[in-house]
Amino acid sequence: MTKKVFYMLWIPFLLAVSGCFEGTESEPILLPERISAFALYPNDVAANDSASSYVANGLQLLVHPEVTYSLSFDKDPAIAENPTLQLFRLGSKVDGGKVMTKHVRTLRPHEENGRLVYKFLCEENDRNVWVTTLSLNGEYYRGTTRHARLEASGPYSDTLSINLIVTGRVDFYESDMDEKLFAKMLLKNFRKYYTSIVIDTLYVRYAHEHPTLGGKYPADVPWIAGRSSGDYFVSELGGWPEAGLKNALDIVLVHRIEMEWVLGYSLMYSGNLYGGPGSTVVIGAYNKTPSGESGLPSASMISTAIHETGHFFGLRHTTATQADFEVDSDFSNYEDGFTDTPYCADLLKSGLLKRNIGPASDFVLPLAHITYATSDNEFNVDQCPDSRNMMFPAVNDEGMDGFTAQQLAHVRKNLMVFPH
Ligand SMILES: [Zn+2]
Repeated sequence: MTKKVFYMLWIPFLLAVSGCFEGTESEPILLPERISAFALYPNDVAANDSASSYVANGLQLLVHPEVTYSLSFDKDPAIAENPTLQLFRLGSKVDGGKVMTKHVRTLRPHEENGRLVYKFLCEENDRNVWVTTLSLNGEYYRGTTRHARLEASGPYSDTLSINLIVTGRVDFYESDMDEKLFAKMLLKNFRKYYTSIVIDTLYVRYAHEHPTLGGKYPADVPWIAGRSSGDYFVSELGGWPEAGLKNALDIVLVHRIEMEWVLGYSLMYSGNLYGGPGSTVVIGAYNKTPSGESGLPSASMISTAIHETGHFFGLRHTTATQADFEVDSDFSNYEDGFTDTPYCADLLKSGLLKRNIGPASDFVLPLAHITYATSDNEFNVDQCPDSRNMMFPAVNDEGMDGFTAQQLAHVRKNLMVFPH
């Protein structure tokens, strides 16, 4: 039997842009000289060596409203004095590839187990990107800033509802399957695997019944994400408007996706449960192949939805793929950083996951994860110790064990960081 293998790719939206002056404070403000391409994400425990090296000048932090953060790194033993952390909010872009920044915090650290820890509360109204500098005696800090982490603790609930948004005409590969039965199986499996959070209700929505956009999504025409409209994420359907239900996870079910072997995608660390860009997880009932298209077993569709939702809440692949490296550029993040998920060194060496199937060139959304299926069989994934983890990047049809305790704790922590 040929195994289906999923591939995923993520694309950073955090652009490398230059800092631009704004802000007048009595204390000297050290603006980021250049905003690095590297970011820290809430509660991420991957090594992040590259991100860590930019704390003093231009590291990006993804922040959410009313969430308490603790940015920390190893204190440089060679430097007795501790630097001050300055935080800047990214504003609008201006000419010359520059972006406005606004100074929002100046913080002094406390020391804890050989680390410098800076705590702050984000009082933004929306998710945002803040950028760091470290100053010591009015200059950029020159010490080392290894093993940087952004711990986050949010006030939001650990309960999640789901909208399954059936978009256009969806025929299932299995003749006895329909969207109602699929929804039932999806809910059952979300509850089976996401045991650290409460999966409240799963609603089946129909795009053609959307109160304002319904006319754009005829019920009898198969929707092909990326072809029927230019937006692969169909993000205008996110934030489904329904009295009494807001801020659910919106899973858009389409006929298929206009990229070969792509089964689904989401935005890593999207954290957007309220609509707009990044608010959707997209899955297809079929996938595009070089010779046409092929139907997917519902079990694969469900695994895809669960895997992509894991990325949505900030789970990395247990073993990174070459495609991950091409967009993350940080080779220290070859595994997810959890101590209870093994990684597969042989997979990294195998070359199996080296293929980078680029999406359309206008595909520029944040940290996108894309799932590929292929019959490529040059590497037997069963030899990997993490091959049955839900976040393993090559998933076979024969079943998954699910998530580990640390992965589940991570999902719960981040659900409570993402406003809903
Ligand atoms: Zn993935």
